[in-house]
Amino acid sequence: MRLIRYREYEDGPVRAGLVEEDRVHALAQDILGPYDKIGRDLALADAILEAPCRPGKIVCVGLNYRDHVTESQQVVPEEPVLFMKPTSAVIGPGRAIRLPRHSRRVDYEAELAVIMGRTACRVRADEALDYVLGYTCLNDVSARDFQRKDGQWTRAKGFYTFCPLGPAIETDLDPGGLAVQAWLNGELKQDSSTAHLIFNVPFLIEFISGIMRLEPGDVIATGTPSGVGPLQAGDEIEIRVGGIGGLINPVRLGDDDTCSK
Ligand code: MG
Repeated sequence: MRLIRYREYEDGPVRAGLVEEDRVHALAQDILGPYDKIGRDLALADAILEAPCRPGKIVCVGLNYRDHVTESQQVVPEEPVLFMKPTSAVIGPGRAIRLPRHSRRVDYEAELAVIMGRTACRVRADEALDYVLGYTCLNDVSARDFQRKDGQWTRAKGFYTFCPLGPAIETDLDPGGLAVQAWLNGELKQDSSTAHLIFNVPFLIEFISGIMRLEPGDVIATGTPSGVGPLQAGDEIEIRVGGIGGLINPVRLGDDDTCSK
């Protein structure tokens, strides 16, 4: 299945939808199922996409590709390095990433996102994928200057709009060998595969669910390969993951109207 959340018109209600070819079929409930169509459909091209899930938490993995560890001048970790992004950072496809005026360096990071489908509490790696709903693209936008200055990453990774997510959740994918790319203004900047993850998806689910309960809709950001770089106002950044498609966001300077929503 290919699942989205969308509006039929600006300011319309957000619906869960099932994409079949070039049409989206509204679902009776949310993207977590059951998947009953209500007989209302729309051309996919006319749907205004939102982030495809509403996570209760976003657990991220740092330094999970060797080439990115090298470019970050860090040491290959013995265990996954975890941090979290606030849910207030989530935006959907097409929405602007806002550069904080007081940061001098904001980077894109292309990542595979895992969307949980069932509650996972201390699950084993060999059963971990049974708890996954599907996969989508995530941009772990990072204020690199604050990341260095603070010594931990909460501020650097947590600004409004710093977690673009989407465009759709693909449920029938093997997470073991998916292309992960970033395209900045049409130029390929990151180009790797989840085959190169230091800690793979089943291992991460076992590791994280041994620490905290993962709930349906929660997101795991699996880390970024080498090639990260800065965003400037006016840029367009696209994260592509094989089998899912592209997550495109424009980049703007300064605050958006997040607080008025
Ligand atoms: Mg990252």
